[in-house]
Amino acid sequence: MASTKDLARRMLLLAAGDTVEAAGARFRQAAQAGTLHELLGTDFTLPGLPTSNAVQWIYGNGMVSTKDGRAIYDQLKAAPVDERCPLCGHGMVRTLDHYLPKNTFPALCVDPLNLVPACADCNHAKGDVPPTSAETTPLHPYLDHIDNDSWLDARVAESEPVWLEFYVSPPPTWDSLLIDRTRHHFELFGLAELFSVQANRTLNSIRQLLRSALAAGGESLVRAYLADEAATRLAHRPNGWEGVTYRTLSRDGAFCSGRFGL
Ligand SMILES: [Zn+2]
Repeated sequence: MASTKDLARRMLLLAAGDTVEAAGARFRQAAQAGTLHELLGTDFTLPGLPTSNAVQWIYGNGMVSTKDGRAIYDQLKAAPVDERCPLCGHGMVRTLDHYLPKNTFPALCVDPLNLVPACADCNHAKGDVPPTSAETTPLHPYLDHIDNDSWLDARVAESEPVWLEFYVSPPPTWDSLLIDRTRHHFELFGLAELFSVQANRTLNSIRQLLRSALAAGGESLVRAYLADEAATRLAHRPNGWEGVTYRTLSRDGAFCSGRFGL
């Protein structure tokens, strides 16, 4: 026979289950309406549990710590293509980030839609702060499908040595809110710097090859090589820094003529 304590725990778990479900529905509605920043943490508490230890309680009482819970957690973590962090498109997935922070929104702490695979850097950069406006609401990898469009571009900076500057280049079909959110996301996760550093490493690794191509076939051979490399990478990831790097370099006449360093 179950002890009184065990019975109380089970009743709390049942009540928590209902609350979690209702909270998930409100979360989805707000995400669709673009009003996630208007959600109040006080509407996402768990019944009978103080906010301070609600998350620990729900994790420790069978909603996540079971074998099934662990399997779902692992599946979500492994979901991104190439195991790339969907927030930066580069880092390796290390954790599940709570899109809306679990301490402010305990009732969403086990909602799969609120669990976003992330690399350690993005998880750290995002922190535990809920969005405060529509414009500063980070992009949600499952809900905001910006990669259906080409939005990432770069230019060759005038400075020496050659350096690429990445920026958000929104297509004309995007509304101003999506543009603002993408630019905020780009800044929040430090993507301009991250991509520039990676592009520079790539450039250093192909410099010798570019010199040989220039000597053998001139500017047109350098350009053709870079354009080919761009096409194969962009076919796989239209907004990946790799493809955008090659495309940008292939379109720069001075670069293809030898500005990469002879
Ligand atoms: Zn990341």
